[in-house]
Amino acid sequence: MKKIFMYILCLITVCFILPAIFTNASKQTAAIQKEETNNNATSENIVETSEEKTEDIKIKLLHTNTGEVEEINLETYLYNVVSAEMPATFEKEALKAQAMVARTYTMYKVNHKKHDNSDICDSSSCCQAWISKEDRLARWEEGKREENWNKIVQAVDETRGKIITYDNQPINAFFHSNSGGKTEVPINVWGGSGYPYLQIVETSGEEAYTQYASEMTFTHDELINKIKTKYQDIQIDFSNDEQIKILEYTESGRVKTVKLGNHNLSGVETRTLLGLKSANFEISKQEDKITFYVKGYGHGVGMSQTGADSLAKQGKKAEEIINHFYANVEIQDIHA
Ligand SMILES: [Zn+2]
Repeated sequence: MKKIFMYILCLITVCFILPAIFTNASKQTAAIQKEETNNNATSENIVETSEEKTEDIKIKLLHTNTGEVEEINLETYLYNVVSAEMPATFEKEALKAQAMVARTYTMYKVNHKKHDNSDICDSSSCCQAWISKEDRLARWEEGKREENWNKIVQAVDETRGKIITYDNQPINAFFHSNSGGKTEVPINVWGGSGYPYLQIVETSGEEAYTQYASEMTFTHDELINKIKTKYQDIQIDFSNDEQIKILEYTESGRVKTVKLGNHNLSGVETRTLLGLKSANFEISKQEDKITFYVKGYGHGVGMSQTGADSLAKQGKKAEEIINHFYANVEIQDIHA
């Protein structure tokens, strides 16, 4: 009886349990193999991505003085942009913020082309400043050349591929030199409907920079002649205090409208006609002269470069600087 029982047990083992064990084992092997395949696929993807990264995105740069269009590696291009746009003496984190801003601005321009046969030009008044390495080095004192260039290269390399996005799209990353303490919304500079990520922000420490305060003095004739370039019939009675007067300010404290004799001009227009550093000004009338006291440098929209440096000096990282100047944005990898 015992023998029969043992025989049946062996039979059950051979017929059911062993095949089950082997099937499970083979399933596990298959699973491991599949995982390995997946891992291989993943590492292949990583290799592909890093190949893409080293290969990099190419952009077409228009050299405005020659009209030549150069196809250039994005990251290499950024060395020449960052070194043209921001002093190398600025804090590393500010330079890194500038590198991300410049990369983002470039990608925005690639998507919103201004020029026919190129993505972007080398003019700061049109697109974004660019300087050749040779010219850049020549403008630095000899003992500082290598150190400065390496600092710029590191700032670009350490933010490699990083761009600022809103709704997963590169933002129109405006920047300027000094906000005078408060940035401006684009609608007050160029009109239009603005961008949700470009709001008014306050930055402390901007007053410590030479770009913060400036003044320009004009004789009555000089002032008239400058305004005449646009308003030929300009007439100002300088003896009447009501003839030169700021009528309205923007939310950020810049001049919105100013009365100059028989015309009302916008602050931005006045800035352009008189060559003031910003539209944030006060007017002082002397007997035979008019002085404009100006705060800040540039249009005031987006990141302030001296503000970025000031924040970096206060211990802020590049990402924090970006999030200070651009509202509700993300920093993403261009290759992702
Ligand atoms: Zn351009």
